[in-house]
Amino acid sequence: CGIVGVLGSHEAAPILVEALKRLEYRGYDSAGIATVHDGALDRRRAVGKLVNLSDLLVHDPLRGKSGIGHTRWATHGAPTVVNAHPHRAGPVAVVHNGIIENFRDLREELAQKGFSFVTETDTETVALLAQSYVSEGLAPVDAALKTLSRLEGAFALAFLFEGEDDLIVAARKGSPLAIGHGDGEMYVGSDAIALAPLTNEITYLEEGDSAVVTRSSLLIRDEAGQEVTREAKIINIDQ
Ligand code: GLU
Repeated sequence: CGIVGVLGSHEAAPILVEALKRLEYRGYDSAGIATVHDGALDRRRAVGKLVNLSDLLVHDPLRGKSGIGHTRWATHGAPTVVNAHPHRAGPVAVVHNGIIENFRDLREELAQKGFSFVTETDTETVALLAQSYVSEGLAPVDAALKTLSRLEGAFALAFLFEGEDDLIVAARKGSPLAIGHGDGEMYVGSDAIALAPLTNEITYLEEGDSAVVTRSSLLIRDEAGQEVTREAKIINIDQ
């Protein structure tokens, strides 16, 4: 199971699939990617090996230079296309590794607000919660940060938003997450191995951190919401 993300200057889909391949060693049952192209958010998902996702992308390409990707090891809900990540709710797409412990409470709260669910996953709750905050008028970054403040459990997460082709919001709590610095590009990965062909300059998020990532900036906050500095390191990995 793994997470990747790219805010790049080339088509994101092949880069995302390649980075996911480098996380295959962790094991997974399904995979998917989402991109923003001309402001429009779209996704492709497939059960089984990454080659199934690659095949799907040949027949049904996904354009865009910004995107997130995921390999899933199902914990809540069977390994089906519907349950595969990225999960989407309106203008929000989310990839998640780990478990949202309080998803039943959140689900109940969202159901009372009239939101309906199409998957059996804990992760869909995260996408719907972010959508609910956007529909209340919050900007994407604020909606993501407010969503994160509501989550209990262990997770690495990345959010992508419709209309925002220069933004990924990422967070970690109990699962590692690395931000990679490129030349006018930025990357997100579960580890530096995923990003090794792209960059060796890595900022590791610390426990409870969130990151607002654009092509030209990285703003990290700690669990208390304070802006913090995390040093970038050079991580050389044999490819
Ligand atoms: N709990 C989530 C799910 O079952 C994420 C699983 C994972 O870590 O890949 O969809």
